[in-house]
Amino acid sequence: MVVFAAVVPHPPLIIPSVGKDNVEKLQKTQKALDILMREFEAQKPDTVIVFSPHGDVYPDAFTINTLPEYDLNFEDFGDFETRMKFSGDIGLINKFRERVETTLPLILKSEPVLDYGIGIPLFLLGQNYKDFKIIPVNSSLLDFEQHIAFGEALKEAIFSDNKRVAIIASADLSHKLTKKAPAGFSPKAREFDKKVIQYLKQQKVDQMLQFDNETLNDAQECGLRPILMLLGVIKNMNYDFQVLSYESPFGVGYLVGECKFK
Ligand SMILES: [Zn+2]
Repeated sequence: MVVFAAVVPHPPLIIPSVGKDNVEKLQKTQKALDILMREFEAQKPDTVIVFSPHGDVYPDAFTINTLPEYDLNFEDFGDFETRMKFSGDIGLINKFRERVETTLPLILKSEPVLDYGIGIPLFLLGQNYKDFKIIPVNSSLLDFEQHIAFGEALKEAIFSDNKRVAIIASADLSHKLTKKAPAGFSPKAREFDKKVIQYLKQQKVDQMLQFDNETLNDAQECGLRPILMLLGVIKNMNYDFQVLSYESPFGVGYLVGECKFK
C-alpha cells in the first residue's frame, strides 16, 4: 500500500555543508521539510520510491537503478564528509519489471552512487527514520502520458505486495523566476509555477498534460515528469494535496507538498 506521497525539491544549497549561509534563505522549505520528515517517520515505510529527473535520463526509456546497496554523497558539491548508505528493494523492482517490460521501455542500470535528484530528498527525509529500502527511478524524455502510465504500472506492482510504500517526486519547478535565476528570466515562469500548484491542489492531471512547448521553454522546469509519475501511482486514490511551502530565493521554484490520503 502507498502510505506516503510527496513532492520534494532538490536544491543542493539546503544541505548545510554545501549551502552554508545560503541555507538561511531556504527557511520556509526547511520548515516544511521538517514537518514532512516527521510525517514520513510516522508512516514507517518499508520501501521508498524516488522519481528523479537527473542522473541518467534517456530520451526513450525509463531507468531503475538496481543494486543491493547504494552510496549517497555530495562530493560533486564539494562536501566530502556526508555519507549515507541505502539498500535496494530488489524484490519489488523485479515484480515491477515483470509488469512493465512488455509495455514501457525500461532500462535497469547499476550505478552505486545516487544522483542528487534521488540523494537530496532521501538525505532530507531520512534523518531520523532509516529502516527502509529504496527504488531509485529516473524519468525519461518520453511524453507526459507515458510518465503517468509508468506510475500506474508501478502502482499495480505495489498493490500486489503488502509493503508500506512511500513515493517521492523529486521536483524543482521553474528555473527562470527572477533576473538572477540560473536559466535567465522569463516573465511567464511565475505563472507556470502557479498553475502547477493549482492543478496539483485541484487534482487536474489532464490540465497538467496540456502545457505546450513554449510554456515549458519559458519555465525550464525539471519537475513535471517526476510529478506525473507520482500522480500515476496515486491515480484513483482519495487524497488532498497540501502545499507545505513554496519559495524561490534563487529564482528556482521550490515546492514542498504532501498528498494526504483519506
Ligand atoms: Zn532539478
